[in-house]
Amino acid sequence: MIESKFPHIGTTIFTTMSALASDVGAVNLGQGFPDFGCDERLTALVTEAMRAGHNQYPAMAGVPILREGVAAKVASAYGKAYDPATEITITAGATQAIHTTLAAIVRPGDEVIIFEPVFDSYEPAIRMHGGVPVYAQLQFPDYRPDWQQVRSLITPRTRAVMINTPHNPTATCWQQGDFDQLAAILRDTNVVVISDEVYEHMVYDGHPHLSVARHAELAERTYVISSFGKSYHVTGWKIGYCMAPAPLMAEFRKAHQFVVFTVNAPAQYGIANFMRFNTHLGLPAFYQAKRDFFLAAVASSRLRWLSSRGSYFVSAVYSHLPEYAHLSEAEFAIWLTTKIGVACIPTSAFYHRQVDHRVVRFCFAKKEVTLELAAERLKTL
Ligand code: GLN
Repeated sequence: MIESKFPHIGTTIFTTMSALASDVGAVNLGQGFPDFGCDERLTALVTEAMRAGHNQYPAMAGVPILREGVAAKVASAYGKAYDPATEITITAGATQAIHTTLAAIVRPGDEVIIFEPVFDSYEPAIRMHGGVPVYAQLQFPDYRPDWQQVRSLITPRTRAVMINTPHNPTATCWQQGDFDQLAAILRDTNVVVISDEVYEHMVYDGHPHLSVARHAELAERTYVISSFGKSYHVTGWKIGYCMAPAPLMAEFRKAHQFVVFTVNAPAQYGIANFMRFNTHLGLPAFYQAKRDFFLAAVASSRLRWLSSRGSYFVSAVYSHLPEYAHLSEAEFAIWLTTKIGVACIPTSAFYHRQVDHRVVRFCFAKKEVTLELAAERLKTL
């Protein structure tokens, strides 16, 4: 038998819960992905790109018209000009972009600060590159960063801070003051920021997305990462991008060329041509309507719902329910999936130590009929 390099790594919670949901025929509000199709113009444009012969290796950093499309969107949304030639790279999804950034910058023993609860790929990706994860805590139930704690975690070995807003799994968003705090803490250091903004177009109640790209001081040290899969309802295409000032991006590309070399050509051309429709502008209203529909449908359930200010997730608390409060989040999620017929994700899966506030996460990127069925079932609790 091979001696495992990663004995502590199991199977990701998303695969586990989706498999369970499918085995028992539960409504899957666990893993985050839409159960509706993408815009037909997008599939037509990808098909057209294949027919036009865009089927060989594209440029290593991504096809120029797609990088130009990203630059134009970001300039108009966040007022920051990234040079498509030297500051934007197309990736095989945001997870690869995060992994490649860590591959490019983390040396053995380097410390990388992450905020818990934290998306489950960050910690393994840090360790795979010899880094040491250092944990800051977002405080339940508001999940606000504790800036004094973050300041205390900075050491001479700190190489990077990974941030994520809108936040998965808590559906919270950073405020302007958070970026100012981080900028102040990192001033006079060489610490790099990795900003996961894959839910940038899912922000609600009239609030704009606060991208690091808007923050001139922080942007100078930041890799900003996003995902076409999220913004265009095509999570299975695995296409995203990374943006950073040229010297940082040069380091990123050193790793990128030997990790994936380049990314699916027809999808890149198709997305590039689709970007001109600016469909992302309608996403906040589209997903806010889904959030509100779901929350109205579950309002009379006995679960207590936390607010969702961004992302396509919303969490519910069950600690006040005497019949269930003794169940851990993992037990409750399995019970809910198998007995009630609605799959969710236990928030404890996003912590490295057992932290369990009796909170589970639901994804509302679903058709109304799916959300309605899930709500009917949740009301039987
Ligand atoms: N980002 C999605 C989620 O949080 C799915 C991620 C995955 O399956 N790896 O549910």
